[in-house]
Amino acid sequence: MTTPETLPEENEPKERVAHPFRTLRELVDYVSGKSLPTNAAEEGGLAEALPFPFLAIVGQKEMKLALLLGLINPSVGGILLVGPRGTAKTTAVRSLLDILPKVERSLCYYGCLPEDIESGGIDAVCPDCARKYAEGQPLVAPDRVRLVELPLNSRLEDVVGGIDERAVVHERLRVRRGILSQADRNLLYIDEINLLSDDIVDAILDAAAQGGYTVRRGPISATYRARFVLIGSMNPEEGRLRPQILDRFGLRVIVRGLDDPAERLEAYRRVQAYLSNPRGMASIYGNGMVAAAEEIQSARAMLPKVTLPDKVARPAINLVQKMGIDSLRAEITWFEAARAYAAADGCDKVSPEDLQAVAPMALRLRRSQFMAEYFSSQAGEEEEMQGLLHALRRKQGTSKKK
Ligand SMILES: [Zn+2]
Repeated sequence: MTTPETLPEENEPKERVAHPFRTLRELVDYVSGKSLPTNAAEEGGLAEALPFPFLAIVGQKEMKLALLLGLINPSVGGILLVGPRGTAKTTAVRSLLDILPKVERSLCYYGCLPEDIESGGIDAVCPDCARKYAEGQPLVAPDRVRLVELPLNSRLEDVVGGIDERAVVHERLRVRRGILSQADRNLLYIDEINLLSDDIVDAILDAAAQGGYTVRRGPISATYRARFVLIGSMNPEEGRLRPQILDRFGLRVIVRGLDDPAERLEAYRRVQAYLSNPRGMASIYGNGMVAAAEEIQSARAMLPKVTLPDKVARPAINLVQKMGIDSLRAEITWFEAARAYAAADGCDKVSPEDLQAVAPMALRLRRSQFMAEYFSSQAGEEEEMQGLLHALRRKQGTSKKK
């Protein structure tokens, strides 16, 4: 990661002087690293629904990088933020609001897409969309990725959908869309994911893995797309996360409190400035946020062109095996995160340095202590069982002889 002092400034064209950075990460470091102007908190203002600016979060580089990589490449497979309370996890996720990229989104209630016609013919879309397609009208329009938060008290029915009660009144059966279907092509954020009930977590993880899901309620069923980037946060003091859930998360960030007293003071000043004047805070970081959003969008456009050469990938797979990691998801996430990292730099090939930069967040908490202990306890059990069976055979052998 380049520090602001070593940023290249002199050779940049004039109009880029306002942002002396070359990549998204440089921008984040540069803007986040600047101290807040001393008069920032002076103006009064109402507490508005403006999110805390992403770039105003002090430190927490790895968390910020993981979230950006998730925006650039949804194939990183979700992001889990693990840490105690008050370490800006939820703030960081909500602060993404201003830098979310745009995606092509279906204009239709049923979510019909041009790809559906390309793969399944004209009958694969609703009659309305079929007509539009024939007339050359667009089925999709660019729309900002949204941040969908799963409320902690959600029921399974709220998440996957259920019978539409209003339609039942009119003697019609219809499935009401759940939160998961709203999350398609969006970010789905679950705070305190370790406290969510197992059936809901399983439904979400299955949908995330398959990119869609089907709801069946009696005679009716409905299938929805659900291609979302899952972001979970948890405080390990409040309950552990099941290993199978942990395995499904691509990037894992351990979020700790700030160590440097100067950083803590700066963080306090920014929070105070935000609380007393959120609009003022938004304007201080406005240009940086616009630039960051543009960088993310162009990295997304770059991503399909980014390749991973075999000679870079092979030693990485060796390392995963040396670490004793069984799950294939480790290298999938690692490689996809490295592609996003390269794309953010405007490179079309993943370099060993790209892999290095994202390795910890892709590989940590992968080696299964549980499985190791499980196999060794299994071995103990196996031995004990064989011993008992052996003893039983001898006893039966001797009793037969009697
Ligand atoms: Zn349609």
